Amino acid sequence: MTEKDKELYDKLPEHIKLRLDYKAEEYYSKYEFKDNIVKCKCGGGKTKDRCEFELKGKKIGQKCDKYICKKCMTIIDDKKYCRIHANIINQQKKG
Ligand SMILES: [Zn+2]
Ligand SMILES: [Zn+2]
Repeated sequence: MTEKDKELYDKLPEHIKLRLDYKAEEYYSKYEFKDNIVKCKCGGGKTKDRCEFELKGKKIGQKCDKYICKKCMTIIDDKKYCRIHANIINQQKKG
């Protein structure tokens, strides 16, 4: 992300930022993208791993696809999830 991109991103309203997070592919395609290795949004490691959460509603059939480094990843039942979706799954499991 260049300095100017960062400035623009910071000015976006929270709900738009959140949507950008969910459309990880579009968001990251603007930035670093080399050999399918992308820098995780936490600023940490580069990663090829993506969240495997299956979206519901309008986006049914699609996956979250957010890039997640080892630090941000949670593995549940052998699938990798970003933090937001890991929370959702854990809540669903609780019942
Ligand atoms: Zn991360
Ligand atoms: Zn996710």
